[in-house]
Amino acid sequence: MLEKIDFRSDTVTLPTTEMKAAMFAAKVGDDVYGEDETVIALENKLSALFNMEAGLFCPSGTMTNQLAIKCFTQPMDEVICDQTAHVYRYEGGGIAYHSMASVRLLHGQRGIITAGMIEPEINEDNIHYPNSTLVVLENTINKGGGSCYTLEQIAPIARLCKNRVLKLHLDGARIFNALSATGDSAADYGQYFDGISVCLSKGLGAPVGSVLLGSKDTIHKARKIRKAFGGGMRQSGFLAAAGIYALDHHVGRLSQDHAHAATLAATLTAADFVDSVMPVETNIVIFKVKSSYTAASIISSLNAKGILCGATGADTVRFVTHLDITSAMIDQAVEIIKNLNPTINS
Ligand SMILES: *Cc1c(COP(=O)(O)O)cnc(C)c1O
Repeated sequence: MLEKIDFRSDTVTLPTTEMKAAMFAAKVGDDVYGEDETVIALENKLSALFNMEAGLFCPSGTMTNQLAIKCFTQPMDEVICDQTAHVYRYEGGGIAYHSMASVRLLHGQRGIITAGMIEPEINEDNIHYPNSTLVVLENTINKGGGSCYTLEQIAPIARLCKNRVLKLHLDGARIFNALSATGDSAADYGQYFDGISVCLSKGLGAPVGSVLLGSKDTIHKARKIRKAFGGGMRQSGFLAAAGIYALDHHVGRLSQDHAHAATLAATLTAADFVDSVMPVETNIVIFKVKSSYTAASIISSLNAKGILCGATGADTVRFVTHLDITSAMIDQAVEIIKNLNPTINS
C-alpha cells in the first residue's frame, strides 16, 4: 500500500521523536497562575528574538490574531487589510464577533499592500465614518501563494501608521518562511509592529500553538482577554516545549521546504493539465488548471496516485511543502505529476 504524500498543508506535520522527548521532559506548572516555566521560557525566547517586550502563548494563530485585533480596536473602529487576509477570510468572522469592528479591504498584489494603497483608505475624523485604527499585514501570504514582504516594503507602512496613529499588527503564521526567503532578521521586526503573531504549528512542526508578541501593556491586556476567550491553559509547558524545540531545530531547514516547492512548481509549469503557476517564493505552490479540467478532477486524479493536495478555488490547486515531506517524496511526486493522465471534463 502506497503511503500518501500529504501536500494539503504545513499543519499536518507530526511531532518528531526528539520533539516528543523534549515535550515529555518539560518542567511544567499552572500557567494561569504564571507558574509554568517552560511557557514563560517560550514567550521570552520569541519576544527576545523579535525585539518585542513580551509574549503570550495561545492555542492557535486565530486566537493570537483575534486577541491583537481586540487589543488594538474599539467597537465601531475599522481594520484595514488586504482582501485575501486570513484574519478576514478564515477566522470565522472573528473581527465582527469579538471586536465589533468593520473591515476595509484593499486589493494588493498577491496580498502585498503598500503605504500608497493604505493612505487614501484611512478615514478622516467625521461622524459618518468608522475610526481607522489598525492595519493588519500577513507574512508570508497564504492566499498570495506564499508571497512575502521584505522589511524594506514594511518600513513605509509602519511609518504611515505611526504618523496617522494607527496600530500595525503582523499575522506572522509563516514569518519564519518569510525570514528564510528574504534574509531579513527577526530582531528588526520589533520596531515596526505593535503586535506580531507567530505560529509554531505550521512550518516549524510543533503540534499546537502560537505566540502573540507585543508591548508589556498589550500582552497584559491580551492575557486578560485570552482568559475571557477560554484560552488560559494550565500545564501547557508540554506544548510550549515543542515550540522551543521547533525554534531550536526546525528554522534552518525551512529553505529545504522552499527548494522542494520550487521543484514542484517547475514540474507543474511543464505539465499538460496546468494553465499557470503562481510565482513561488516560499513553501506554497498554487496553480490554475486548464479550462478542460476542474481543481476537483485534478485533485482526485492526484489522490488516486497517492498525492494529497487541496483546492483554493474552482480551478486552483494548492501544494504546501513541510517538515514531513522528504526529498524522496518530492522525487516521487515529480514522477507522478509528469505521468498524470487526468480525465477531461465532458
Ligand atoms: C494558519 C494560519 C493562521 C492561524 O491558524 P490557526 O489554525 O488558528 O493556528 C493565521 N494566519 C495565517 C496566514 C495562517 O495561514
